[in-house]
Amino acid sequence: MEWKVNNEKYDIGSLNDNERTELYRQCRENKLQIECLCQSNNNVFPKLHIKHNKNSGLFYPANNPSNSKKSINHSDDCIFNTYFRQHLKSKGILLNEEGKFVCVIKRKKNANGKTGSAATSSLTKRSETEQRNSVITSQTALRFLFLTLVQKYGVNRYIPSQQRNVHKRLYKAFCDTLINKKELKDIGYLAHEKYRYNYKKHQLVVGIGNRTDIEKEPGTVFYNIPLFALNNPSEKAMDLKVPKWIYEKATFTQANVNFGYFLLWRDYDQQDTLRDLELVFVPAEKETMIPIDSSFEEIMLCHLYNKKIQFKKPLVMVDGDDYLPDFILDQKLPHTVIEVAGLLHNEEYKTHLELKQQHYQSKGYKYLEWDVRRDLKAVIKDII
Ligand SMILES: [Zn+2]
Repeated sequence: MEWKVNNEKYDIGSLNDNERTELYRQCRENKLQIECLCQSNNNVFPKLHIKHNKNSGLFYPANNPSNSKKSINHSDDCIFNTYFRQHLKSKGILLNEEGKFVCVIKRKKNANGKTGSAATSSLTKRSETEQRNSVITSQTALRFLFLTLVQKYGVNRYIPSQQRNVHKRLYKAFCDTLINKKELKDIGYLAHEKYRYNYKKHQLVVGIGNRTDIEKEPGTVFYNIPLFALNNPSEKAMDLKVPKWIYEKATFTQANVNFGYFLLWRDYDQQDTLRDLELVFVPAEKETMIPIDSSFEEIMLCHLYNKKIQFKKPLVMVDGDDYLPDFILDQKLPHTVIEVAGLLHNEEYKTHLELKQQHYQSKGYKYLEWDVRRDLKAVIKDII
């Protein structure tokens, strides 16, 4: 999240709590104009303003109504974009007035009678249809929520001059999230070289590791997952031990990538004891810790990173997964969508990719496609 206030640029994700509150207060008191730098509309940026809640004493940013009157839009992945908020809501995540994500993850009986977790937004007055629509099917809830959190403070974005600070950015996103009415910063654990996991308290465990390091503990029903620190990936933070049935049910994705995030969701049983419930693996590129969907995406990402080209890897956008670009180069206007075309021998895939190209071009993006059967350098030389 980048803003321009009084001609000065701010990376909101890199500010600490006090700095952020102070900036909001100054903006509010001095009626300073805030521009959201998510995207420019013919060199005009969407405006934000700061609201103040007298009861809580909190300041928080809000979309300025003048934008829609002038047809100025926030980008497809900006949390101030109305359609983006609606998309999150349809997936069970509500963005409340203070900009916090609110969702419910509960054990839910599936059609086949097995229990799994599902997220529903915690709106109170909802019709049954609405409620049904807001339930994420089992095992996608956790992944979707995590990707939303990764995107919130730009972990999915590479800016050569910026510090990565993955732990710090995720922690900020945790501070902005309520699961089952509890602050995620209190019930979530982000693997860290100093802070320790507390199995009596933490419900969401997030760390990074390699799935080839997972081993079955001899003579037990447990699998051991070595988790590394998000603030220092070369330091081991803990050994996460999960029971066999959790490991066997885990969602690992098809991607041929071994490195990534491990997410463990835990909840209280009827005896009020915290139990491990669900394990999810989210593949990621090792240097940047940006989530990826395939080994070809990893090659593209590394190429951009090594050439110090600014990009973002969209994880959640208004049009859902069907029209989610693989990469967006967002330093120069117009922004360029890059599609990593891994299955061009498949007719159905090819047709869908053509639709995607039309869709992006109609939104004003430049379009670049890498047919993975061709040499990457030959394709990308035009944009460097
Ligand atoms: Zn914006």
